[in-house]
Amino acid sequence: MAVFNLPSFDNHEHVAFFSDEESGLKSIVAIHDTTLGPAVGGCRMWNYASDEEAITDVLRLSQGMTYKNAVAGLAMGGGKSVIIGDAKKDKSPELFRAFGRSIHRLGGRYYSAEDVGINTSDIMIAHQETPYMAGLEGKSGDPSPFTALGTYLGIKAAVKHQMGKDSLQGMSVAIQGLGHVGYHLCRHLHEAGARLVVTDLNQDALAKVAQEFNATIVGLDEIYHQDVDIYAPCALGATINDQTIDIIKASIVAGCANNQLAEIHHGEMLRQKGILYAPDYVINAGGIINVSFDNNYDEAKSTAKVKRIYNTLLDIFQEADSKACQTSIIADELARSIIANKKAESRSI
Ligand code: NAD
Repeated sequence: MAVFNLPSFDNHEHVAFFSDEESGLKSIVAIHDTTLGPAVGGCRMWNYASDEEAITDVLRLSQGMTYKNAVAGLAMGGGKSVIIGDAKKDKSPELFRAFGRSIHRLGGRYYSAEDVGINTSDIMIAHQETPYMAGLEGKSGDPSPFTALGTYLGIKAAVKHQMGKDSLQGMSVAIQGLGHVGYHLCRHLHEAGARLVVTDLNQDALAKVAQEFNATIVGLDEIYHQDVDIYAPCALGATINDQTIDIIKASIVAGCANNQLAEIHHGEMLRQKGILYAPDYVINAGGIINVSFDNNYDEAKSTAKVKRIYNTLLDIFQEADSKACQTSIIADELARSIIANKKAESRSI
C-alpha cells in the first residue's frame, strides 16, 4: 500500500502502529498536525475488512480533526486512532489498558477520546495507564450531547441560509444513525417541531426514537429516497457519493457523521444540484469543543462556544455563495489559513 501517496496522508507528522499479543490489541494512531497544540481526536473501534481500510480511515479522520479543531478555534492539533476489532465482541479491560499504554508511549503528542464503538467507560479504563485521555467522567464526560447540540444549530443555520427561515416547525428531516449523537439530535429536532424519518441497523434504537419522538422508521437504503427538507447523515462516512447524490431529494445535507463526502468533488456535485452542504467537521465540532474544556470544566462556557457553530456556518455558506464554490472547500481554506497564521506567528517569535 502506497501510504505516502494517499490524498489523506497530507503530510501527517506521525503514524504509529501498536499491537499487544495478550489482549489482542491492534491499533493505529495518526497525528496529522500539532501546529495549534497537542493532537486531540477520538478513537474508533471497527471491524475493518483490511488493514488498508483501517489506515485510510484513520488518516482521513485525523486530517479532519486538524481542520475541525482549527475552525472551532481550539488550541489543539489533529489526530485520531482506530482499534481494529468488533466493538460488540472484542472489548476487554485488558484491551483498553493496552491501548492506554500505547497512547502513553506518544508522550502527550496525542490525546484520545471516544468515537464510534467506544464509550466513556472504555476511555476511563485506558486512563488508568495514561493521563493522555480526554472526555473523562467527572470532567467533560460524553461529548455526544454537545455534538448533537452543535449539529442541531448547524441544521438551523442551513435552514436560515437556504430557506430564510428561523424555525424548524413543520420541516422534515431524514436521520441516518440513532447512536450517541443521532438520538440527542432527534430530541432537539422533535422539540423544535420537525417531522422525523429515521433509519438504523439497531432495532432497539429505532423503537426508542419512534416511540419518544414520533419518528417514522424506514429501511436502510430507503432513507436516501425520502421526500424531506433535510438529510442528516449520523452514522458512518461516505454516504454522499455517485449513487446517493442522484437520489437525495432534500435541499440540505447536514448531519454529524465524519467524512460525509466520499470524495471532494461530491461537494461540488451537491452545489450544482442546489443542495446546501454543511461541512461535516464544522457542524460536528460540538463534542470536541466540550472536550477542550476538560482541564477546567465549565458547562456554560462550553455551551456558549458550541453555539458559535451557527454563525461559523452562516459565514461559510455566504462566502461559498459569493465565490460560487463548494462549502467544504471554503471550510478547508479557513482551516489552512488559521494553521498558516499560527506557523507564521511562531516563526516570528
Ligand atoms: P454511534 O456508534 O453511537 O452511533 C452510530 C449509529 O449508526 C449506530 O446506532 C449504528 O447502528 C448506526 N449505523 C451504522 N451503520 C449504519 C447504516 N449503514 N445505516 C444506518 N445506521 C447505521 O456513533 P456516534 O457517536 O453517534 O457518532 C455518529 C457519527 O458522528 C460518526 O460518524 C462519528 O464519527 C461522528 N461524530 C461523533 C461525535 C461524538 O461526539 N460522538 C463527534 C463528532 C463526530
